[in-house]
Amino acid sequence: MPRYDVILAGGGSAGLNLAHALLDSSLRDRSILIVDRDAKVTNDRTWCSWLSGPHPFEPLLHRSWDRVRFTGGGADTVLPLAPYRYAMLRGLDLYEHSRERFAALPHVTWLQGEIEHVGDGGAGAEVVVDGTTFTADWAFDSRWVGRDYTPRTAAAAAGLPTLAPDRHHYLQQHFVGWEIETDAPAFDPLVATLFDFRTPQRGPDGWDGMRFLYVLPFTERTALVEYTLFSAHLLPPAAYEEALREYLHGVLGVTDYRITATERGVIPMTDQPFPRRAGRSVMRTGTRGGRVKASSGFAFLRTAQDAQAIVRSLVARGHPFDVPEPPRRYRLFDSILLQVLYRRGDLAERVFADLFTRNPVDRLLRFLDEEGPLTENLQLMATVPRGAFTAAWARVALLRRI
Ligand SMILES: Cc1cc2nc3c(=O)[nH]c(=O)nc-3n(C[C@H](O)[C@H](O)[C@H](O)COP(=O)(O)OP(=O)(O)OC[C@H]3O[C@@H](n4cnc5c(N)ncnc54)[C@H](O)[C@@H]3O)c2cc1C
Repeated sequence: MPRYDVILAGGGSAGLNLAHALLDSSLRDRSILIVDRDAKVTNDRTWCSWLSGPHPFEPLLHRSWDRVRFTGGGADTVLPLAPYRYAMLRGLDLYEHSRERFAALPHVTWLQGEIEHVGDGGAGAEVVVDGTTFTADWAFDSRWVGRDYTPRTAAAAAGLPTLAPDRHHYLQQHFVGWEIETDAPAFDPLVATLFDFRTPQRGPDGWDGMRFLYVLPFTERTALVEYTLFSAHLLPPAAYEEALREYLHGVLGVTDYRITATERGVIPMTDQPFPRRAGRSVMRTGTRGGRVKASSGFAFLRTAQDAQAIVRSLVARGHPFDVPEPPRRYRLFDSILLQVLYRRGDLAERVFADLFTRNPVDRLLRFLDEEGPLTENLQLMATVPRGAFTAAWARVALLRRI
């Protein structure tokens, strides 16, 4: 059985972040096998993050913005982000950079294949790929497939044997984005629009989460424009494109444009806990390891930070499992916000308007990064509709039977 020090089952964001973190550490000589079913030769996604320090892949960044726009709930405001910025990394740029770096290292192997099993074996971890068993001291499992996450499929994708759909929230962040090129100047390339609520909020069956547009301009004539929902159910494919067309035509007044690329995705927004340890020698990482922030869907930077923490644990303790978790209260905040989005779709626009216009932007970003002190968290919670959030808190307490 071919043996490695480390096997990375899944070569997306989590697998690649961990491979680079290992290669940048004192463990750089350990043999690594990365396995993914996909060749990773297309730009299947872009990863954006706000950050105040250097990005883990700073030289690869495609764009960054110092100001963001929020439009909704009666507000239309441009917010300077300093000391933060909003940065975009294209998936393909990370895939190509990784391929180039790994190709020069004989102890790193990138294998394309279908992973059939990841688990403990007699001597460490065992990973079965297209019928061949590979063994390692440690395996990190980040297999994930973007699709409609009902409670059952979300738990199955995370490799969880049991679930409690009545106790947790299962929303999804789902979107279709077009990279477009316009004939006339249409965008301010210095300002990224994070939320524009000028799109109908109700579906045919009534309120269901929230809907907004997200615009990342590259030049005056090119931008990624994305129609995004935080809701329980996906839409029929044509509905996303219809909403994009209506926004471009009716709101931005852009009628002459070409679509140069399309991005679609589904990100689980759930407070279902995803245990990290999947065996004596197997750890879950990335989305499968619960790295997606339940109430925002952001995961890239959290996954990069997690990769650093895993490597620190391996170096200091000889195992990967000693990784820090944020204070427990952030899980409660996530659940409350999911509960509000789940039951009070009519309030979603107002809640986000309050968060963006009644708080300094650094307070909001520290909250979303799970870094602010409790006093600051409470200041922020005091800016959202009190009755709805108190009712949501009571409901969450009931669901969890606490
Ligand atoms: C389109 C899109 C855009 C996103 N944009 C952002 C963003 O801007 N900012 C942000 O913070 N987060 C974003 N996210 C969320 C999150 O950061 C990404 O999904 C991120 O790629 C998750 O990393 P991961 O390693 O868990 O999963 P992935 O990157 O999806 O990697 C999982 C890998 O497992 C492989 N795999 C699955 N099953 C098997 C199998 N059986 N055998 C072999 N290989 C297998 C897949 O091919 C895949 O490459 C986005 C997600 C999507 C889908």
